[in-house]
Amino acid sequence: MIRVGIVGLGNLGKGVEMSLKQNPDMELVGVFTRRDPAGVTAGAPVYSISQLNDFAGKIDVMILCGGSATDLPEQGPVLAKLFNTVDSFDTHAKIPEYYAAVDAAAAQSNHVSIISTGWDPGLFSLNRLLAEAVLPEGNEYTFWGRGVSQGHSDAIRRVAGVKRGVQYTIPVEEAVNRVRGGENPELTTRQKHLRECFVVLEDGADAELVAQTIQNMPNYFSDYDTTVNFISEEEFTSTHTTMPHGGMVLRSGRTGESSTQIIEFGLKLDSNPEFTASVLVAYARAAARLAAKGDFGAKTVFDIPFGLLSPKAPDELRKNLL
Ligand code: NAP
Repeated sequence: MIRVGIVGLGNLGKGVEMSLKQNPDMELVGVFTRRDPAGVTAGAPVYSISQLNDFAGKIDVMILCGGSATDLPEQGPVLAKLFNTVDSFDTHAKIPEYYAAVDAAAAQSNHVSIISTGWDPGLFSLNRLLAEAVLPEGNEYTFWGRGVSQGHSDAIRRVAGVKRGVQYTIPVEEAVNRVRGGENPELTTRQKHLRECFVVLEDGADAELVAQTIQNMPNYFSDYDTTVNFISEEEFTSTHTTMPHGGMVLRSGRTGESSTQIIEFGLKLDSNPEFTASVLVAYARAAARLAAKGDFGAKTVFDIPFGLLSPKAPDELRKNLL
């Protein structure tokens, strides 16, 4: 039995709790939070993060579910000194420095830390690597959506006059079809994705001004075709409070004289955090196995053999899945 702990109980932490119930080779020992444990409800004992030291040697893998912006850069290296860890750090530009900090801590203390798992980074990264290795001549395309972008939704909610707001990123169908057709197009930011916003206005707010402020917002919206829909609070609550997401990674390559070869990997997710959590849990199994072999240090999805993710024995995998 792999003994697991969860650090941080937000959307992702709750997803991990649910996913562990589908994996009988793992047990949840406890949840660790920065808040007062008395105010946090979970399906396992809840402890203050200050009690973590008491659990060294009692937990095989700690699954880190804090946010990438400020929680993980601080918690990742500290916890890698005490436990084997798995996380979903997703600030792509900062992965090299995060890896270095976690690797120093994990290698020094004989732990395994698998960073940046999930779906992007994570399963999408694996598919980009696989497709590029198999088809060295070609182009890679990643489309995201249809799904809720947390960062863009936060940006809308900061606009004066917005009471509630959510933003969906949507791949442009025509662009996807051109890639699938083997055209190898050069696509601008605007040609690849649309942004669709749903907003509940504060009483007396100017709808036209809110729409323009959103559409002209640099970095977030001005480079995209953005539509802003105004809806009632009831409609918002009934239709726009889940977290769907997904997308696809495509590579359009050439082999031989003139053969076009297309590789496509796609995800259609009702719940982004529940799916991301399921990936974290599979990588927690791999972390426990690598630690048992003494293969310490920080790892990414590129370093983990697929067989280590499965609860099945290698001979069973060879017989049934190969
Ligand atoms: P979240 O719900 O905002 O939770 C982040 C942290 O905030 C929690 O760990 C929790 O820590 C604290 N928190 C949660 N609810 C709170 C509340 N009511 N009051 C005060 N604090 C609260 O974020 P999330 O949706 O779980 O996402 C976590 C990270 O996952 C994201 O930052 C993102 O980087 C990553 N992610 C990665 C992928 C991927 O594909 N790689 C996909 C999706 C998400 P405490 O319990 O310690 O307070």
